[in-house]
Order: sequence, then structure tokens, then C-alpha cells
Amino acid sequence: MMKATIVRNVRIGGQLFDLTVQQETGTFGEVVPAGQAIPSGSADERILDAAGLLYLPALHDMHIHLDKHFLGEPWRPLQPFVTLPGQLAFEKQQLAALPTTVAERARRLIGLLLSHGTTKIRTHIDVDPVIGSSHIEQIAQIQDEFRDVMEIEIVAFPQQGLLRSSSIAVMKEAMRAGAAYVGGVDPAGLDRQVDRSLEAMFELSAEFNAGVDLHLHDPSHLGLYTISRFADLTVAAGQSGRTAVSHAYCLGQVPEADSRALAQQLKSADVAIITSVPIDRPMPRVDQLLAEGVRVYAGSDNILDAWSPFGNGDLLARGSRLAEKFGWIIDGDLLQMYPLITGGGLVPAKGERADFMLVSAQNPQHALAAVPRREAVFSKGRLIGGQWFEGSGIGSAKPEITAETV
Ligand SMILES: [Zn+2]
Repeated sequence: MMKATIVRNVRIGGQLFDLTVQQETGTFGEVVPAGQAIPSGSADERILDAAGLLYLPALHDMHIHLDKHFLGEPWRPLQPFVTLPGQLAFEKQQLAALPTTVAERARRLIGLLLSHGTTKIRTHIDVDPVIGSSHIEQIAQIQDEFRDVMEIEIVAFPQQGLLRSSSIAVMKEAMRAGAAYVGGVDPAGLDRQVDRSLEAMFELSAEFNAGVDLHLHDPSHLGLYTISRFADLTVAAGQSGRTAVSHAYCLGQVPEADSRALAQQLKSADVAIITSVPIDRPMPRVDQLLAEGVRVYAGSDNILDAWSPFGNGDLLARGSRLAEKFGWIIDGDLLQMYPLITGGGLVPAKGERADFMLVSAQNPQHALAAVPRREAVFSKGRLIGGQWFEGSGIGSAKPEITAETV
């Protein structure tokens, strides 16, 4: 393996720099003005020229399903969404009919995500009494297989309803099989017992010392009540900072004063909100949440599955959609998007993990608006995606890994 890579002429903050990446540690070495990085002359050092491409931190997709998409499969026509139970049954039937394993399909989606510059994901994996923890077991192996290039947080997700499908026992199996987060879905709409459903999630959280991430589509003040109880239970369990509510459409359906009051409770309980930035329905008021100090993250959620044929796994595009939806056109607004979709600052620092991408853009706000293709994607210092990796861009970079070796 290469010991170091020097990437020359990388645009950072309007200037050009040379980045040195230490391969053994996967971290940045020196970051110096362009032309000042001195090659060691060693044969196991590689020198690349970014020729003014912009540095961006790698993307973190905080809500995605590795086990329920149809990527790489023949097109499967969807049915209209009439009732939730009907849709749940349709999904079960569609997934059961797929000829490929969960692991095979997870590899396909991870490959797509890496190509777009995503190096960390939180994935919700189905658990129910029929499939047991079999999906979780396969994804735990995938987590290990991709450890060097992709950080994967696994949420055990009782898609059919935690109480509705009597999934508590199998959720325990799933937690033992490698999930780090307890999931849940619609304590009112599916489980029809808001408090009992939430309490069951937090009982699992306590038993396995796990974080909690709830799928919540329950609307308006019903949803607000649910989130408020979720925040209370987070504090009571001492889990502040380790819990999140995904979707939370209700925060965009109630009057602004009501969502602001709940935002203040979320801030004080340190509960995060995770959004897939829907454009077909109300969504949380992200600008209000940020103004109140709530942590907000974005994710792709469904990509070509039984629920939706849309999505391409490009989280930079999803961030751009959020900024456009909220009318964020000034630089300060555009820049505030990056903490929602990345884990790093906009400037690399020596010693930090070298997860980054290079794009053709003048600055990060331009990149968010224009969504340029990824010229190069590095994870832990290794070139793993983008045009350089595909071999159609700058010709000096040869792939270090292939699908077979990761
Ligand atoms: Zn989801």
C-alpha cells in the first residue's frame, strides 16, 4: 500500500494548498500552500494534481435503508399508496420475491453512495417476526466488510410496528446481532398506543445501552405530543445526544409558535431531527430548528423501493434541495447546510481522518448550489470514488480498491 499521497493544488478557502494524506493512519498530514509539499522521493508515495478542484468534506447520510431497495433488479412497478397496512403487506411481498440477498443489494447501494462521496451512513434495517433478525445479521457482516471505507450505524427497525407486529422479542435478537440503535415507527398510526410504544423503545434502549431513532409520520399535534414524550423519555433515560426523530412531518404542519416551543424542548433534551427533505408534503422547519439550536441531519431514505421509485443516493443534491426549498440563497445560509450533510469542517486539519471529495466549484456555497459531479472521493485517505477512481478523469490515479477487495 502507498505510504502517503500528496494531492497538489486543492482549492480551500479561495487559496490553493497541497494536502498530504498518510495512508497507514488514513489521516491528513501536512496541509501547506501549493508548491510547498516536498515529496520524499520514495517509490511508495503517490502525487496527484487536483488542478484547482475544490475540497469538500465527505458526506454523511443519516437515514437510508440498505435492505429494502431494488437497485440492480429488473424494474418493479409500484402500486398506489392506499392504506399503510396495505403498503406494508405489498413491501413484504416485493422483498420476499427478490432473487438477491440483502447483502448483495446492500453492496450495490454502498457502491452508489461511495461514488457520490458518502463515507458514513445510519441505516434502518427491517426486523419483524417473519424475517427475524436475518437482515440485521447480513448487514452486520456488510458493516465489517466495508469497515475501511464506510462507517455504518445500524438501527433495528420494526417496520411493521413494534407493538403491532409483536416485535419486541425479535428486536432484542436484532440488538444482540449488531444493531446500535433502537428504531420504531408511528406510535399512534401503527402501534395505536403512543406512550406504551415509546416506553417499549426506551426499555430496549436501556437494556442494550443503545441510542434511539424513531420514524415518525404521525401528523400535526398528535405527532407533536409524540415527539414531546420522546424528548421527556430521552431525558429520563439519560440518553440526551443519542436519540433522534426521523421525518417528523408534524413539525411543518402545526403553527410556527407550536413547532418553536417543541424545538426548544428538543434543544434542551438534545434530540436530533433527521429529514429526507420531502418535496411532496410539509417537512420540519429546518431554519427554525437551527435557530433554536436543534441538531438537524439529512438522509436519502427511500431509493427505488416499494415506497418510492425516486432518489439517487447523492446527499449533496439532497442538501441542495433543502437549501432551495427554504430559500437559502445568501452565502451564510448556503454554508449552514454543510453540518447537516457532512461530518467535517470545510478546511482539512492535520491528524483528522482524511474523508473528503474534490469537485469543480469555486467555493462550498457554489458546490451546494450547482451539485457538480465528484471528481475524486477519498475515505480514510484512500481513493474510492469519483471520476479519478473510475479512471475517466485525471489519469494518474489508479484504483486502489475494487468491489472484490473492499
Ligand atoms: Zn426510513
